[in-house]
Amino acid sequence: MSPDYQSVLEAIQNEVVPLRRTGAVANYIPELAKVNPDKFGMHLQTIDGQGFSVGDSGESFSIQSISKVFALAMVVSCVGEKIFDRVGVEPSGSSFNSLVQLEYEKGIPRNPLINAGAMVVCDVLIEQLQKPKKEILDFIRILANNKKICYNENVAASENKFGFRNAALANFLKSFGNIHNNVNDVLDLYFHICSIEMSCKDLAAAFLLFANHGKVISADKALLTKSQTKRLNAVMQTCGFYDEAGEFSFTVGLPGKSGVGGGIVALHPHRYAVATWGPRLNARGNSVMGMRALELLTTKLGTSIF
Ligand code: GLU
Repeated sequence: MSPDYQSVLEAIQNEVVPLRRTGAVANYIPELAKVNPDKFGMHLQTIDGQGFSVGDSGESFSIQSISKVFALAMVVSCVGEKIFDRVGVEPSGSSFNSLVQLEYEKGIPRNPLINAGAMVVCDVLIEQLQKPKKEILDFIRILANNKKICYNENVAASENKFGFRNAALANFLKSFGNIHNNVNDVLDLYFHICSIEMSCKDLAAAFLLFANHGKVISADKALLTKSQTKRLNAVMQTCGFYDEAGEFSFTVGLPGKSGVGGGIVALHPHRYAVATWGPRLNARGNSVMGMRALELLTTKLGTSIF
């Protein structure tokens, strides 16, 4: 018998509400600071098609770094594991926009889920796709089964205007020969994918791909092989939470990815995908309410992947 997910989500919501005022909204991208910081939403979608929601789960927000997983899935579906010649699969242990590590590792980013790694992925997508922005958006719309998902041009412009560190990273990669295209084109694509807006409901639906051996449930179509899916889940498990990936494995025990917009998506292979949204972040850049909600989820259900 399947668990009573709705009651579990409601109990979690009650327990995380007291954390509503803890942490701070990301404001280094000015447009992101406009969000209502007290929001909280959670949606769990099972691979047999049931959805369970609490709070602001239908409201769209900036997915930010969660987009790195979609870009990686797309590049792996285009070029396979060749992408890992240009980007590693080790946790970085340093901040997501660190320049220092890139210097001593000679322009090979530690993994595809930090900014430098995602820029290399964007560089390959520019080479592989005819209309990268449109095709990436179409890919995500298919995964989430929602044609309304869009870029937020204001957020992309805000990132572009204040993205000095990201511009430094892209130029640095180029100096090592690990960006082949024009740096501004790569940054433009990178900022755009970060600006995509989705709800918890959309994110949980989209991440079912990784819980379901790389097969899109709504379209009954395989976009990734089983082996590719397994590898993407491994990268999320070890690298998906900035320098708090160990803590997330320790307390939650699911592969997933967070973003500075306050979203977190995680999945239990063969069972469900779950997304949370709470804009206030802890010192490491992860949603305070989301981290706690997911810890409570695997505790209450009594199952993680371990
Ligand atoms: N667009 C953000 C940046 O590049 C993404 C950060 C994140 O969500 O980790 O700084």
